[in-house]
Amino acid sequence: AFNFNAGPAALPEVVLLEAQKHLLNFNGTGMSVMELSHRSKDYEEVHNSAQSQLRKLLQIPDNYEILFVQGGASLQFSMVPMNLLSEDKTGYYVLTGAWSEKALKEAQKVGNTKILASTKEENYRSIPQLDLDLLQEDAAYLHITSNNTIYGTQWQSFPDLKVPLIADMSSDILSRPLDISKFGLIYAGAQKNLGPSGVTVVIVKKDLISEPLDHLPTMLNYQTFSKNNSLYNTPPTFAIYLLKLVLDWVENEGGLAALERKNIEKAKYLYDAIDESDGFFKGHASKESRSNMNVTFTLPTEDDTKNFLDAAKKQGFIGLNGHRSVGGCRASIYNAVPLEHVQRLAEFMKTYR
Ligand code: PLP
Repeated sequence: AFNFNAGPAALPEVVLLEAQKHLLNFNGTGMSVMELSHRSKDYEEVHNSAQSQLRKLLQIPDNYEILFVQGGASLQFSMVPMNLLSEDKTGYYVLTGAWSEKALKEAQKVGNTKILASTKEENYRSIPQLDLDLLQEDAAYLHITSNNTIYGTQWQSFPDLKVPLIADMSSDILSRPLDISKFGLIYAGAQKNLGPSGVTVVIVKKDLISEPLDHLPTMLNYQTFSKNNSLYNTPPTFAIYLLKLVLDWVENEGGLAALERKNIEKAKYLYDAIDESDGFFKGHASKESRSNMNVTFTLPTEDDTKNFLDAAKKQGFIGLNGHRSVGGCRASIYNAVPLEHVQRLAEFMKTYR
């Protein structure tokens, strides 16, 4: 299958083969990783090396914690304001799509919020320019969605702020090098670039979570995770094991700079197929905001879209239907989608037209 699913998405074949090879007997234990105690030495090694690999690849400074949480990125929509938004402060949000709307909606249940900028009126075709003067003294943080999975837009650079910048990076973490020090907190559900669903990675500056927040439910308090190395309760051990294998794969691919080059090359094949189609394929995102992870496009009519998707499916292209809020098509080309699959899709788009 040529898997262009938006998530859960394609994983590197070598990772799956490696997991298969050790499925019944991990590290000579005679057991599968998923059968190991999460308190065992063998599992702890997996857990700690997933963290240290992530620290190395993303060059995460020592004053940041790496946490493994469950509940998906959707739970982070609530945990961020519960942990970082106090009564006298305001959480600022930039709306760039359905996921940032959902993040805002959860924060509104917790405390004061304001929308700093939004491109909703143009159906989220672009990333807005920010007027940082609007970010007032009362700001607890500014929340953004670095890549908008549904609309196919991506922040090309990140602002320097005096308040913590919080980013939902679920659909583009590890797709390019990052300056972590610009951020107060980053979170990402694993099921696109990091591994299978089940684990959510949170990277957070230690001083942001230093105040005791005893009123919070234990499992919704970042301190529970930071104080217990994300082993307060049973973590999703198999998902973390696969995350570790994916991180090893990223290193073997040459790290984030190499992956970024590859991602730009892959996306270019599809954007060229769109731009050179005399308007037959229309990109949803405006050019300066285009995502290298999710390429969204429409065809002249709904019938055309349906025919295109049917024909694509017959050729083995999976997951190309767009999200219902945009319509049309979406090709998700995360790190693990091979260049050759993208080239084939670009060729197919040209031939189909
Ligand atoms: N944020 C973004 C940018 C996403 O793409 C998604 C899922 O596709 C989510 C949040 C929700 O993630 P989860 O299903 O892990 O809660």
